[in-house]
Amino acid sequence: MPEDKPLVRKIESAKAMRDVMGAYFTELFEAAKTGEKKIAWCTSVGPSELLTAFGFLVYFPENHGAMLGSSRMATDLIPSANAIGYSPEICSYLTSDVGSFIKGETPMAKMPGFVFPKPDVLVYNTNQCRDVKEWMSYYHQHYKVPLLGIETPRSINEVTDVFIEPVAKQIEAMVEPLSKISGRKFDYDKFKEIVGLSRKLTEKWKGVLEAAEAVPSPINFFDCTIHMGPAVVMRGLQRAIDYYDILVAELKDCVKKGIGSIADEKFRLYWEGMPIWGKLREHSELFAKLKTCVVASTYCNSWIFDSFDAKDPFRSMAKAYSEIFIVRSDPFKEKYIQRMVEKYKISGVLYHDAKTCPNNSNNRYGLPQRLMEKMGIPYIVVPGDLNDMRCYSEEQAKTNIEAFAEQLAEA
Ligand code: SF4
Repeated sequence: MPEDKPLVRKIESAKAMRDVMGAYFTELFEAAKTGEKKIAWCTSVGPSELLTAFGFLVYFPENHGAMLGSSRMATDLIPSANAIGYSPEICSYLTSDVGSFIKGETPMAKMPGFVFPKPDVLVYNTNQCRDVKEWMSYYHQHYKVPLLGIETPRSINEVTDVFIEPVAKQIEAMVEPLSKISGRKFDYDKFKEIVGLSRKLTEKWKGVLEAAEAVPSPINFFDCTIHMGPAVVMRGLQRAIDYYDILVAELKDCVKKGIGSIADEKFRLYWEGMPIWGKLREHSELFAKLKTCVVASTYCNSWIFDSFDAKDPFRSMAKAYSEIFIVRSDPFKEKYIQRMVEKYKISGVLYHDAKTCPNNSNNRYGLPQRLMEKMGIPYIVVPGDLNDMRCYSEEQAKTNIEAFAEQLAEA
């Protein structure tokens, strides 16, 4: 890249993404204002397809948590949740979101037509962690609307029928209450169509991530954390699929022309764990200066659901949502990261040890060391947090990351 070009290439499809995300929020605000459509709050890997089939607009508190982190409002809001008994040690998405609720402060307030999208129903799936259930329970106490949940077993090695059947039954058991809350009859064909669209969406998102197999990679992890928005909040919706057609075309063009996300890519990292939302830009620039592209991550790959099958919607949803990385055993995780290291030609792995999310911090039980022994893959552990910036030391992280880049250069 010529010297006057920025260190990190700007994604040209960003405006199209802002438009599609803007339309999603406008629809929610409109529903909150008019009451014409019902609103379901759902945990990020909850059964959103079923909710959409009943005509609910789906709002994701975790997406709001990420917005609180990236807008850097989170750290100031967390103490309000701590003051009512929610520990600083638990999920900082939860504490920042509850803090936002208590103080009535949200980044959504800056969006056109903002009206807070109150829930008609709250739905969780414990496939991620206990925190999501506690989080929804807090709002259940406040709003007095129905709370529905799926309890998924954790640390699964192989996702067999023993695990899939009970989860599928729990999703199916939601049909009756959701029918009552929405005032609509269950339309099985509509549900199948939505699961089919979710499958298409997941394939498109996979196409975005797999573009990073190219050397140089046309996209980096930090961009992906932003551009995954539609894949998270618009599952089962055609307009999210249309957006990824635009992004994939841009990335394919870059690959054809040999244009990388960063100038002069020398090293390729895998990011394991949550993003540090308040530091995305700083990290993007720091790694670019070190000629290092963070090309792949567990986090962004968590929204690939290969098992969705419109012909068998309940069971395939149960399988897809029980297969995600966070629900799996360490032996599975080890093999998964091993495959990613090979697929994306990774030079080193960065493990983010997020203080308030042990569920997404995979450095605590010897996994990095085992992978290092098996594959000789160098690694670095960066202590920090997804949202609580009091747990992150920028200077220390920068020094350690720079030293790691030197180590990669010498290898
Ligand atoms: S997985 Fe981690 S970040 Fe996500 S809701 Fe649970 S504790 Fe919070």
